[in-house]
Amino acid sequence: VTDPSTIVAVAIDTPLRRVFDYLVSPELGEARPGQRVLIPFGRRQLVGIVVESRSHSAWTVDKLRSVVAIIDREPVFDTELLALLIWAADYYRHPIGEVLIAALPTAMRAGTPSIAQQKVWRLTAHGHERADAELSARAAKQRSVIALLRQVNEATTGQIEQQAAASVATLRELARRGYVEQVEIALDAQETASGITAPSLALNAGQADAVTKINASLGTFVTWLLYGVTGSGKTEVYLNVIAAVLARGAQALVLVPEIALTPQVIARFRERFAASLAILHSGLNDTQRLNAWRDARSGAARIVIGTRSAVFAPLRTPGVIIIDEEHDPSFKQQDGFRYSARDLAIVRAQRAGIPIVLGSATPSLESLARIQKQPETLLSLPRRAADAVPPRLTLIDLRKHAAAQGISTPALMAMRRHLDAGNQVLLFLNRRGYAPVLFCPGCGWAAHCKRCDAHLTVHRGSEQLVCHHCGAEPLAPAQCPQCLEPVKPVGQGTERIEETVAQIFPDAPLARIDRDSMRRKGELEATLARIRSNEIRILVGTQMLTKGHDFPNVTLVVVLNADQGLFSTDFRASERLAQLIIQVAGRAGRATQPGEVLIQTEYPAHPLLTLLLEGGYEGFAQGALQERQQSGWPPFTRIALLRAEATQPAAATNFLNAALRVAQQHASRGIRFFGPAPAPMERRAGRYRAQLLLHAATHGPLQRLMSTWIPAVEGLTEARQVRWSLDVDPAELF
Ligand SMILES: [Zn+2]
Ligand SMILES: [Zn+2]
Repeated sequence: VTDPSTIVAVAIDTPLRRVFDYLVSPELGEARPGQRVLIPFGRRQLVGIVVESRSHSAWTVDKLRSVVAIIDREPVFDTELLALLIWAADYYRHPIGEVLIAALPTAMRAGTPSIAQQKVWRLTAHGHERADAELSARAAKQRSVIALLRQVNEATTGQIEQQAAASVATLRELARRGYVEQVEIALDAQETASGITAPSLALNAGQADAVTKINASLGTFVTWLLYGVTGSGKTEVYLNVIAAVLARGAQALVLVPEIALTPQVIARFRERFAASLAILHSGLNDTQRLNAWRDARSGAARIVIGTRSAVFAPLRTPGVIIIDEEHDPSFKQQDGFRYSARDLAIVRAQRAGIPIVLGSATPSLESLARIQKQPETLLSLPRRAADAVPPRLTLIDLRKHAAAQGISTPALMAMRRHLDAGNQVLLFLNRRGYAPVLFCPGCGWAAHCKRCDAHLTVHRGSEQLVCHHCGAEPLAPAQCPQCLEPVKPVGQGTERIEETVAQIFPDAPLARIDRDSMRRKGELEATLARIRSNEIRILVGTQMLTKGHDFPNVTLVVVLNADQGLFSTDFRASERLAQLIIQVAGRAGRATQPGEVLIQTEYPAHPLLTLLLEGGYEGFAQGALQERQQSGWPPFTRIALLRAEATQPAAATNFLNAALRVAQQHASRGIRFFGPAPAPMERRAGRYRAQLLLHAATHGPLQRLMSTWIPAVEGLTEARQVRWSLDVDPAELF
């Protein structure tokens, strides 16, 4: 007996690392890969995505259930994007269903049509035949609606109200009598202008060379590194490349760090291009996100700009991918599906046969290692002519110069000098809140989080305590709970620096920029405008200040504490610190005045600081790459982390030990295992955390091991007591 049904493999939003086979009866038509289908799953009906058609199933046909409905006429993922997502699920060993569903706008996860729909009225067969004969001659409005629909076939409620002078009530009455019906039809993608509205600025030699080389590579895969200091004009290069891409009738995908997607950035694109823009970021509501996604997919949007997850935006005619600030940590997803948008974008460009441009003033060591192998893909932008003198970096030795409330005397004097000259001053401290510790001088007690192995940070003067790891917000005690002595905040956060600076420079208007002060929507934009208009004279902030914002009047930058990160056990910490210092230093001296950068440290002889001061980021990066090569860390080797956490102290380690035993039975040749070891901050939000590090010379052995090992790990009995996750190419070691 041959069943005429076909078999499809369907991905469903479950944490299971597998697909599910379903039958498709011939009445439903063909179910193609990338289409959404409605399927029975347990006792529920779920939306799933067809991954492939199969000629046979490992299950017998009578065990298979049937697809209830095919939701889309056209696949929601085209062949290329579907293949990329399947590749990503495989590479990162993440459940395929979660990967595919995460790539869809929320509204479409529940079955909303992938193409914009419009509700229109039209005549039914009954209406066609009977309406004129049956309607009373006095029902003038009803008759005019019928006449209109005979003429135009379909009309929206608004069109009917206008052209037939009829109301919604009239339409309802006609529908009740069966003469008309309301149906949804696909709204055709609007043809949009692709022209350029503003002329390009004059390019300098470096920019022109970069634009020429990138444009010559359109239609082929090349990974370009556009390496230029802050203010060297990278955006102008992007805009010129995009213009060439649009002229070829293709689309540009631009990825930017989370915080950088401000109205200012978008305005710059809008000013230059008449072409329609689709913007994808976390601040959109479901409808906005759905519309942007549809515009990207239909090609109505010629430029798609977004943060990390926009790497999965559907594109009808991809022409180029641009990643601005490619070193930025926000391109790595740190929970759930832990992908690197930068790495996936490179894979996507390769599969699509288009160039990708990675831009940065402080490129990641991964990108610099690639340049060592392919020097011809480096595009260097020299410093602007107007900005010929690079900012001068100077260390302030905190052991010699007392720092009253976090700011040393030489720094205070420099601030006075720059403010008196009419310029702006930026104070950088990567620690929000008022003070990192609440301490009792009487007995040595300090406020700890009940659920984490961490100090509580003092916020809002000294009223509130906040745990930066789990979000707990206990009230601050005025007295020590052990000896009843008054307690005091120790150390500095941005709030306290703001307070101190306001006392010392009462005449200089001040703005603090960090996650707490910029919580309200539009707050950051408003503050940036006040900075640009020179109303604000002193800026105090965290790394939020270092991302993509231009402060042309800032001539002095003070890095208040360079020592966080100097002695971390994470091999990437020094790279992050160097990038932060250089990025924040890049805010100084943008216009005609030369800039000055002061770095406060208790370790002026530290090799990282010496390298930065003597050789700039290049000098640091060369040293850091050598060190990584010698010690066998990425980008010269590959790593993966198996993390686990549990409410019981030993459960995470037990699970990892069991996982390690299984790994050693599998094909683990060429792989070294480190751990299991507890995380440096073992307890977080009431859970004990541990990890197992896998290390190999190349990705191949890791991939081979993980393909059989992870399914086995999934089935371990020890896995039931823990939450575990796998992080391939982790950005952070802990
Ligand atoms: Zn005490
Ligand atoms: Zn906590």
